[in-house]
Amino acid sequence: MRLNAKQIAAYTGGSFAVEPLDPRALMCGVTWDSRDVKPGDLYVALPGERVDGHDFVAAALRAGALGALVMQPLAEDVRALARELGAAVIDVPDTAGAVSDLAREWRSHLQGRVIALTGSTGKTTTKNLVRDVLAAAGSVTATAGNQNNELGVPKTLLAAEPECDAVVVEMGMRGPGQIAELCSIVRPDWGLVVNVGESHIELLGSRENIARAKAELLRELPEGSGLAFVNAADDFADFMREDARLDARRVPCVLFDGTEDAAARRVAASAADAVRPAVWAEQVELDEQGRARFVLHACGFDDAAAAAPHVETAPCALNLRGLHNVSNACAAAAVGRASGMSLAAVADALAHAEPEAGRQEVLRARGGFTVVNDAYNANPDSMRASLNTFCALEVPGRRVAVLGDMAELGDFARACHAGIGELAARLPLDRLVCVGELAACIADAAEKAGMDAGRIVRAATISDVLGELDTCIEPGDAVLVKASHCMGLERVVEGLVN
Ligand code: ATP
Ligand code: MG
Repeated sequence: MRLNAKQIAAYTGGSFAVEPLDPRALMCGVTWDSRDVKPGDLYVALPGERVDGHDFVAAALRAGALGALVMQPLAEDVRALARELGAAVIDVPDTAGAVSDLAREWRSHLQGRVIALTGSTGKTTTKNLVRDVLAAAGSVTATAGNQNNELGVPKTLLAAEPECDAVVVEMGMRGPGQIAELCSIVRPDWGLVVNVGESHIELLGSRENIARAKAELLRELPEGSGLAFVNAADDFADFMREDARLDARRVPCVLFDGTEDAAARRVAASAADAVRPAVWAEQVELDEQGRARFVLHACGFDDAAAAAPHVETAPCALNLRGLHNVSNACAAAAVGRASGMSLAAVADALAHAEPEAGRQEVLRARGGFTVVNDAYNANPDSMRASLNTFCALEVPGRRVAVLGDMAELGDFARACHAGIGELAARLPLDRLVCVGELAACIADAAEKAGMDAGRIVRAATISDVLGELDTCIEPGDAVLVKASHCMGLERVVEGLVN
């Protein structure tokens, strides 16, 4: 952003607790972590349960912040410091709300296309792919890491330069109304729903409710100029398109399909005169390291009105592992192609995209074995994808899966964990180590489904897991580590790799 203290006070409804020396001096960045402050930033004091950002205003000012947004009176020595440095202190009723207010205003300065994406699983991965594809053709600002909540979303907008060609915003949600609220700040031109799965079903009650909440993004797209991207392989694709009234509101919808039956689904859609996927994959396969290769297809972008639009193709090899990433790549390709890039340029950019840490990251451990670090997070969809991908890896030794609890599944938790156990029993796993109370259901179901009890281990703590692995892992083996974030299984990865 580039806003001066007067604008910031006006946009947030704040008043000056300390007047700035130069009211026209522009502030260029926003942060609420005093350790990240760069000269010229605006520091936002957020009240927290453990630490109160107001305690770090002085540190932020000393680090070069040109202004501070606060919601509590500051001590006289901090105000004196601000006066001495010529910095502004702006008093607002709610500092987090003020960040949203600023972003809402800043949005109207952005000249490029704003693309928002949400979904149950794969948002960050797809956001990175969209970012990398579009960056091959222009300047892009995208959500940093996983900052997809009511603070991270405005922060992403505020990080964008007005002249930036595209802004890619990841939106997370835990309940109905949240995506609509984020959209009121972001006002996306284009909206992409990666998929509708089971994460957060505890709070939303059913997949239909999850789909309705995701469809809020599509509902908020502007009539006439908006563009929607929906996963054709999703059983809620039609539901969301209707729920968001895309046809009635003249918001075109680009369908993408990264599944192995994409071509068949296109034929079926043609026969039914329904909307056909415009970007899809064929000849999908995984290489010996589990990385996806396929032929990317696109149709109808330049000649949509033609009776038989031309089908373009481009071979594509990803650095990302697993079949699920073909779907994420098709989503990103649809955005790139709709932006006017050639399919070959899109495929080339996809081939250079790197995976994010903690998501199926393959690490070599000192003991001569491989660790697949997928400990960043888990829900039933990503757990299934992860196990299938792991079992597609060519491993000289044995395959060991360390699986922990999946959180936020409410009444569905036991059944979801049992489903994973049944899958594990069908897959070529040599050992299954389950850690946590719910993960015990994975172990029980795997045993019931016929997996040899001697190959199943139930562990209560992370040190139990490490102790077990210490005795059973040999050079050449591969270990998958996966659970919800709250389980902290990255400590297993650290224990194995360091
Ligand atoms: P969060 O809700 O934490 O923001 P996210 O939706 O951003 O998660 P990612 O961080 O991209 O998702 O990926 C989380 C996990 O899901 C990883 O283990 C990844 O390998 C897996 N994953 C990514 N895309 C898909 C997909 N399309 N289907 C199933 N699993 C996927
Ligand atoms: Mg994410």
